[in-house]
Amino acid sequence: KKIIITIDGWSSCGKSTVAKQLARELNYVYIDSGAMYRAITLYFLRNHIDWTNTEEVKGALKNIQLDFRYNEHSQQSEIFLNDENVEYVIRDLVVAEKVSEIAAIREVREFAVKQQQSMGKKKGIVMDGRDIGTVVFPNAELKIFMTADNAVRVERRFKELYEKNPNVTIEEVKNNLEMRDYIDSNREVSPLRQAADALVLDNSKLTMPEQLTIALNWVKE
Ligand code: C5P
Repeated sequence: KKIIITIDGWSSCGKSTVAKQLARELNYVYIDSGAMYRAITLYFLRNHIDWTNTEEVKGALKNIQLDFRYNEHSQQSEIFLNDENVEYVIRDLVVAEKVSEIAAIREVREFAVKQQQSMGKKKGIVMDGRDIGTVVFPNAELKIFMTADNAVRVERRFKELYEKNPNVTIEEVKNNLEMRDYIDSNREVSPLRQAADALVLDNSKLTMPEQLTIALNWVKE
């Protein structure tokens, strides 16, 4: 029987890596909810939307069409913003600097959560984010909450970003993770919380195969 699996946690804890592997192993669909907030942020930045103005935000959201399409080449689903593949540009630090501020806006969350919930109508999905087990799918059959040591997380995200942009500094990455975690866990609308029934996976000292084995055992239970 196919189920819904949610993976929440702090920034750069390795949520998407576990989620992707788990989805591949179970033949489930992986959905990166953070990519939706990042794509909305990209749209707001490109179109100079004043996101402190609720009416302007509502108007902008009407012009945003998001969808995930499977790419045979990369063997993963990629996010499209109004028919443009933005899977890679949304990873930029320019987007990361603003995304938490925009993800804290009520109208933005309503827009994203509605679409996320409709993707869950068909079971057999793994979705990662910040509020998936608490708000998007409070009845999910398996909820995982991931954590990792700060230093491990900074190092991991730095390596990823450095590959694309050698000008990026460790300091910048560290500040960005701390800022996002702060905003994400202190915002008014659906702050980052561990669901009461979530199972905790601390991956600071676990290899990827070890994490996958633990998660797969949870699925079997
Ligand atoms: O997962 P990722 O780090 O790409 O998410 C980027 C940002 O999107 C997070 O820092 C958070 O502000 C926001 N987000 C959210 N709720 C989710 C997923 C992401 O608020 N479910």
